[in-house]
Amino acid sequence: MSEIINKIPIAKPWIGEAEAEAASRSILSGWVTQGPEVAAFEKEFAELVGAKYACAVSNCTTALHLALLAAGIQPEDEVITVSHSYIATANSIRYCGAIPVFVDIEPHTYNINPTLIESVISDRTRAILVVHQMGMPCNLQAIIDIARRYELPVIEDAACAIGSKILWDGKWEKIGKPHGDIACFSFHPRKVITTGDGGMITTNNPEWDKQFRLWRQHGMSVPDTVRHDAKQVIFESYPMLGYNYRMTDIQAAVGREQLKRLPEIIERRRFLAERYQQMLADVAGLKLPTEPTWARSNWQSFCVRLPERIHQLQVMQAMLDAGVSTRRGIMCAHREPAYQIETWRCGIVKEKCEYEAGKCDRLIESEQAQDSCILLPLFHQMTEAEQNHVVKLLLNFVL
Ligand SMILES: *Cc1c(COP(=O)(O)O)cnc(C)c1O
Repeated sequence: MSEIINKIPIAKPWIGEAEAEAASRSILSGWVTQGPEVAAFEKEFAELVGAKYACAVSNCTTALHLALLAAGIQPEDEVITVSHSYIATANSIRYCGAIPVFVDIEPHTYNINPTLIESVISDRTRAILVVHQMGMPCNLQAIIDIARRYELPVIEDAACAIGSKILWDGKWEKIGKPHGDIACFSFHPRKVITTGDGGMITTNNPEWDKQFRLWRQHGMSVPDTVRHDAKQVIFESYPMLGYNYRMTDIQAAVGREQLKRLPEIIERRRFLAERYQQMLADVAGLKLPTEPTWARSNWQSFCVRLPERIHQLQVMQAMLDAGVSTRRGIMCAHREPAYQIETWRCGIVKEKCEYEAGKCDRLIESEQAQDSCILLPLFHQMTEAEQNHVVKLLLNFVL
């Protein structure tokens, strides 16, 4: 093997001339904030995932905030979710003044364990916020069955899951239809497609969609696009407290080009993920992610669990020294200083909580996943030679 391997990043957006031209189109049109490109992006996104409505916002965190507000979440309410996620998931609950109630994950899919949900439902529970972690669809069928029985809305944090699929009533459907009540997506560069920053909210509820559109633009009764086209003077009003959660037309123009690339991106990611699976299949002690029969991941991240005897940090440092970037397993919000708050875990007040320095006996799988997993590089442009190199370095440690 004489091919020279340069530094291998953990991820890299697939973005180029088409996106640069689209951004230029928007800039030269003179309409740069939320306008015609945003409207077109929303329409194309809704068609892609099979949702009735899609509303573009500034990022997935603001999308989650609005989704929870639409679900009626208020201060002191409880929302069931996972600690094992990017911190934005739990943060969005706290923006509403509500309390995240953390449930542990399944060790093989890294997604919420549905069998643990019922035991934490209380008379203050108002919603379930699930995550399709690293692009792997969570067990929506089981979760929605429970939610319907308790009349709780289900919000899907689909930040990483653009283009992932789930088998639903015998048919493959895209995440974001949504199968729950609202789904939220991210276009951060670390995700599968990007607009620099950006988010999208999908729902089939027309009232909620209307709400999202008001909230994202300061609660203003008349959108500026309408005022711009009006033949008569219109005065706007502000019937409610709103936010500035807009996406710009420059971002949306880029997003529309990224959507065109999505099928190819997913095909490539699935090919590379399958190749990792084959090359690492027989390594004793190494645990690979498993795709349930009813799920098709976009493999936003490829996460491997190291054998117990192997030190996560040492492997990561050695790989970095050899020019390969990895990341540790997904973080746990409950271990962060920002989460040493009065009430959070299971809604228990802090004095009664037996949680100590990063250990919670109800979140053992979450903590173990964070401590023993590493994410391997996976991106559209990655060559097979680069992937072989990553595997070779990893095997130096685990064999
Ligand atoms: C990235 C991510 C977010 C936050 O998305 P932003 O667009 O950066 O706000 C939320 N939840 C999960 C699971 C994520 O991976």
